[in-house]
Amino acid sequence: MGLDVINMLTKYNHDVTSGRKIKWIVIHWVGAASTAVNNGTYFQGGDRGASAHYFVDDNKIVKSVRERDIAWAVGSRGYLDQGSPYAKYGHKYFGKCTNSNSVSIEMCCKKGSNGLYISKATLERTARLVQAIQKRLGIDNDHVIRHFDVNGKLCPLPYVQDSKWDDVHAILTGQKFTIKTKGRLIVRKTSSLLSKKTKVLKKGAEYQIIRTNAKDTRGKLKEGGWITITSKYAERI
Ligand SMILES: [Zn+2]
Repeated sequence: MGLDVINMLTKYNHDVTSGRKIKWIVIHWVGAASTAVNNGTYFQGGDRGASAHYFVDDNKIVKSVRERDIAWAVGSRGYLDQGSPYAKYGHKYFGKCTNSNSVSIEMCCKKGSNGLYISKATLERTARLVQAIQKRLGIDNDHVIRHFDVNGKLCPLPYVQDSKWDDVHAILTGQKFTIKTKGRLIVRKTSSLLSKKTKVLKKGAEYQIIRTNAKDTRGKLKEGGWITITSKYAERI
């Protein structure tokens, strides 16, 4: 299934390269109700002081900057503190992930009675784009991050809390699945087998996994904690 990317390349606000090493995929939200084409048009229209590679909405993916060129998307002036209680938890990849080594994807927003939100259809379309880029460039799940993780900007705002982001990260990277335990499984605090034991799961029960380690041998439970998910210990259902 093709991604049907619409090219709306902008002349503005990016650095042209002849090729670069892309290590990270950075997820954003636009922060205003608009469509992918609206954004493509806006960024084609003049110097906006910023840019992103892709804009995604329920129906379309718009490419605004070529992947091999550098978009101005994740900031370079250090982490931002916007007075939010969460701001101090951001910027953990500052200096590691930069505009030069990342691709930025902006999710378009809708306006609901509780303010701006990202629709399920937009999340699913973004997931297809993220996974296609991961596969093509060999980017693992831990390198799919938020703008928040780079410089502390509250972007994408609905997923600044780690508990909300874990769930969305699992959708974007296609990791969300259910397992049935084949025996009593030890839950540990982190993906390391040396980390603290927190509880034991009973045999024959079903649990949702929302993240896996790079080797796909350990999985993070939706309710927290990590277990071994190899076929000896768990069946994927
Ligand atoms: Zn952003």
